[in-house]
Amino acid sequence: MAQTVLIVEDEAKVAELLADYMQQSGFATVVINDGALAKQAFIRDQPCVVLLDVMLPNRDGMEICKEIRACSNVPIIMITARVEEVDRLLGLDLGADDYVCKPFSPREVVARVKAVLRRTQNGNTAEQLPLKLDETRYTAEVNSQQAELTVVEFKLLQILLSDPGHIYSRILLMDCIYDDHRIVSDRTIDSHIKKLRKKLSVINNGEDIIRSVYGVGYKLEFA
Ligand code: CA
Repeated sequence: MAQTVLIVEDEAKVAELLADYMQQSGFATVVINDGALAKQAFIRDQPCVVLLDVMLPNRDGMEICKEIRACSNVPIIMITARVEEVDRLLGLDLGADDYVCKPFSPREVVARVKAVLRRTQNGNTAEQLPLKLDETRYTAEVNSQQAELTVVEFKLLQILLSDPGHIYSRILLMDCIYDDHRIVSDRTIDSHIKKLRKKLSVINNGEDIIRSVYGVGYKLEFA
């Protein structure tokens, strides 16, 4: 049976977009547009992940997050309207697992959902992978050696790492990196990947972790 993602979002278009992408990724979805109904839906549908908008009618996402956290460890990804809001929410220590800002790429949200599930369901798989990321420093670590990455390189690696072995197309990667739909060519991604590979191979005994799949895109592969 498909795992359910509970989407609490009052903007119908955003909710629909998220639901579509989640379904394409094999999840069942439940959409709630009223804050007051979120807790009830959570109990009824037993979702594997909650995508929770902050600004909602009748009860805001912060209260809902606290309520759910009081009774469950389900991964919660908060959806915020502004980047500055993330800092404020972090300060409140609501117990959310991740934050995404509008406007977001729905594919990135799917990647975050998968990442959060991997972290929580498989007893911290991230710990077992030879590659670790530090989001606060934009560094990657392999064999206790660190590489400093640019923001774009870090984001690319984060996406690849969200599902190692999965082949990500250049278009998808571009979509995730440039939310503002800037016109960038495939080569931009290729050149970022090239630099990223170089940095990673330096800390991985000269071995390449990123594989290019001819004509398709890239994936991570650990020996
Ligand atoms: Ca809203």
